[in-house]
Amino acid sequence: MKQLRNTVIRAGMEALSLSGVHHLLRPIFAGVGAIFMLHHVRPGRDGEFQPNGHLEITPEFLRVTLQHLRQHDVDLVTMDEVHARLSQRNFARRFVCFTFDDGYRDNRDLALPVMREFDAPLTVYVASDLAEGSGRLWWVALERVVAKASAIEIPSGHNLTRLDASTAAAKHAAFGRIHRWLRALPGEHDQQREISALCTRHEVDEAAIARELCLSWDELKPFADDPLVTIGAHTISHCNLARQSEATASLEIATSRARIENALQRPVMHFAYPYGDRAAAGAREFALTKTAGFKTAVTTRPGMIFPESADHFTALQRVSLNGNYQDVRFLPVLTSGAATAMWNGFRRIDAA
Ligand SMILES: [Zn+2]
Repeated sequence: MKQLRNTVIRAGMEALSLSGVHHLLRPIFAGVGAIFMLHHVRPGRDGEFQPNGHLEITPEFLRVTLQHLRQHDVDLVTMDEVHARLSQRNFARRFVCFTFDDGYRDNRDLALPVMREFDAPLTVYVASDLAEGSGRLWWVALERVVAKASAIEIPSGHNLTRLDASTAAAKHAAFGRIHRWLRALPGEHDQQREISALCTRHEVDEAAIARELCLSWDELKPFADDPLVTIGAHTISHCNLARQSEATASLEIATSRARIENALQRPVMHFAYPYGDRAAAGAREFALTKTAGFKTAVTTRPGMIFPESADHFTALQRVSLNGNYQDVRFLPVLTSGAATAMWNGFRRIDAA
């Protein structure tokens, strides 16, 4: 199903790219700028089973994207600058801000050097438990379980269902099935319990993943001192805020910020909602981050930035640089706003 969706999106992007229709749509949907969303930046990996492949691009594709933006004379700016330009209605020049979620070590080792070639600033949203080494990247844990196993048993009703995971295709199907099952469980504790049980049964060291992949506090401190780097908050535990009580959601938002400010000794003014889609961030969460005093908060809802985004500083849309579509031909489509407009049913702002 996910494969099908990828194929459909790819076909849509190809069609837009070939037809040149994105040039016609530009004045309506290109907006005044964009916030790009990235996760990992690292070399492509071998193997067919990469269910989290959409969360990574290569350093080369990052460079090509930056070249494209520079060629089109787009300003590469910080989130503070996005906020300032929107507040002052300063739209003389188009702008793009690069944001990276979760705080991966490859952001420092592989993304920053490429960003530096273009003197381009970046914002990295840190979940404090991940920096602490105690957080859980359950989607990576699940990828490792499925990669390792030839069959996986999951509860269904009072029985166990046995999922084949002996081939790459079977692994993709099993990953999709388990992913949907986990996201549908009533609470995140249930999800965590089931993932931990899977990791134990298949001998995956779940606790080690955050330490392996994420920047620690000791590493974040000098990283945050780099003039190109802004550190933002991304909750304590990387939870789905919309599924928490209001008290817990407020605590996750305010305490993550306090922990980062305390560890790095600098103010944290920007926030990203974990998962960030409709099911994870809505009107209540947009109000909570505003009350907490953040200047901006970003979702994962697709879209460009428009003058009217200034009315929704804690519900800003982003454009995903998706690892499944690392093709230079798609860049004009993405920066024209045609792709995100299509996904949004041709609405400019999606902040309700
Ligand atoms: Zn995240």
